Amino acid sequence: MRASVLRGPGDVVVEERAVPRPGPGEVAVRVASVGVCGSDTHYYDHGRIGRFVVESPLVLGHEAAGEVAALGPGVSSLAVGQRVSVEPGVPDLTCPQCLAGRYNLCPDMRFFATPPIDGAFAEYVVVHAAFAHPVPETISDDAAALLEPLSVGIWACRRGRVGAGSRVLVTGAGPIGLVSVQVARAFGATEIVVSDVNPARLALARDLGATEVVDARTARVTDLPRPPEVLLECSGHPAATAEAIRALDRAGRAVLVGMGGDELPLPLSVVQERELEVTGTFRYANTWPTAIALVGAGRIDLDRLVTGTYRLDQAEDALTAGRRDPRSVKVVVHPQT
Ligand SMILES: [Zn+2]
Repeated sequence: MRASVLRGPGDVVVEERAVPRPGPGEVAVRVASVGVCGSDTHYYDHGRIGRFVVESPLVLGHEAAGEVAALGPGVSSLAVGQRVSVEPGVPDLTCPQCLAGRYNLCPDMRFFATPPIDGAFAEYVVVHAAFAHPVPETISDDAAALLEPLSVGIWACRRGRVGAGSRVLVTGAGPIGLVSVQVARAFGATEIVVSDVNPARLALARDLGATEVVDARTARVTDLPRPPEVLLECSGHPAATAEAIRALDRAGRAVLVGMGGDELPLPLSVVQERELEVTGTFRYANTWPTAIALVGAGRIDLDRLVTGTYRLDQAEDALTAGRRDPRSVKVVVHPQT
């Protein structure tokens, strides 16, 4: 099979590799679509993210969907030909975090496209059968791949306890911000304010359910007429994060999703006097059933986010599309082409 391999910063080539064979409890998936994530672009640019360093050739891509191509020994829950969305991290399922239901915090997680685990910019991938989630025909291949970033938004809304009548502020209208807007609406939020510096993305946010948008170049979220109860911080920008925390209502909740600066100036007196909750999020757990239900029912539109489609041998173009075109939101690679 062909796989797109990152050999070092700025160096991606297509290589011929053996088709991976599923072991016990696993399935092989013929990959139809893979979304490009900011983390893929970061590995491409810098060869590392924090403590994860690309030391040997790495296949990028962790937002994948396709159809089951082969079953490993003992797998009876899936059938060859079934369309599935791949949940790209397989935890050990035995540690205290896994047993508590927080498998996203498993210290032994094997996650796609995180050194040394290969990802899905390839014609086939192997995954544990329990993490290959069947999707209905109403969900496209691209949307099935983007159930992964949608899961980040679902997890963020759960962490922020977004519910009926919630007033939500989403800072950053990139792909994660835009799925978070849609999840907040699906969860019953009635005020969804979105801030960004990119007018095209703010317009899309409005189309996808934002009730108000703030152009952060000219306006401040601290001037909103009603303070939000929940912040879904998706920009990763330290100054924007601090200001958004200041915008929260008493007893508000700040969910830090975006990754950017490693440290930020926390307005501590605001956190204390308003009894704010500030929490991180790391990936997700148990989100695929909700994601499939919401997209299958038409409550969330993921196809709308796709602004570009690339062949496997164009992976480099796909990885750099975001910086070349300010109207780019989400691009996908189709490894069979
Ligand atoms: Zn575990």
